[in-house]
Amino acid sequence: MMKELQEVTENRISTARRAAVSQGAARILVVEDEAALSMLLSYNLEAEGFTVDKVERGDEAEIRLSETIPDLVILDWMLPGVSGLEICRRMRARETTRSLPVIMLTARGEESERVRGLAIGADDYVVKPFSVPELMARVHALLRRARPDRASGVLSAGDLALDRQNWRVRRGGRDVQMGPTEFRLLEHLMGKPGRVFSRAQLLDSVWGLSAEIDERTVDVHIGRLRKALSSASEKDPIRTVRGAGYAFDETFGGVG
Ligand code: CA
Repeated sequence: MMKELQEVTENRISTARRAAVSQGAARILVVEDEAALSMLLSYNLEAEGFTVDKVERGDEAEIRLSETIPDLVILDWMLPGVSGLEICRRMRARETTRSLPVIMLTARGEESERVRGLAIGADDYVVKPFSVPELMARVHALLRRARPDRASGVLSAGDLALDRQNWRVRRGGRDVQMGPTEFRLLEHLMGKPGRVFSRAQLLDSVWGLSAEIDERTVDVHIGRLRKALSSASEKDPIRTVRGAGYAFDETFGGVG
């Protein structure tokens, strides 16, 4: 069954993966020690365009979460190493993962366990065996709830428009091509016009938990973003604030 699933979804996945990469799609961490279930989940999530990271043990999940913050975690309850319940509790106690959406999976369906899972801070709770479409629906619902700004809305200033839903940027009627990091950078800056963000703040918000990344990385991507956005004759919407960081120019587009 797994083999068939693999073949059927192979093409869909490679297309979806490309789309996910180019659109900077949501990243999902799957923490599940049953190999077959973990594969089933990641195949279906990737087919929906998500970027999936898989770990089998609770302690591995903790290490992974200390390196990269995903957009959502699917967390099995019974895990080798550290239990899903304990991981969830620790996530809620940490600033960086406090509001990270979590769907708990469990074989135990008793109401008392469900209540315990939700009390510890899981956002949703799915009892095995579950239907894959139902779980997918919950993933989408939770992501929409967690990032309502992502679900709708166009940010615009002057002749520049950023469509959060379709991951498109247009300037002066033309499509602007840029990578997912540049898109997230622009989205972040444009979301708060005039506000100056330090390189460290941008690394944290745009790259995730990235203490290991050199701050000059931000300059490189800002450079690419500027190149993508503006031709020589056009006004640069990004302001460099010496010694402080970067801001989206609140006067861009003639207002103010
Ligand atoms: Ca398990």
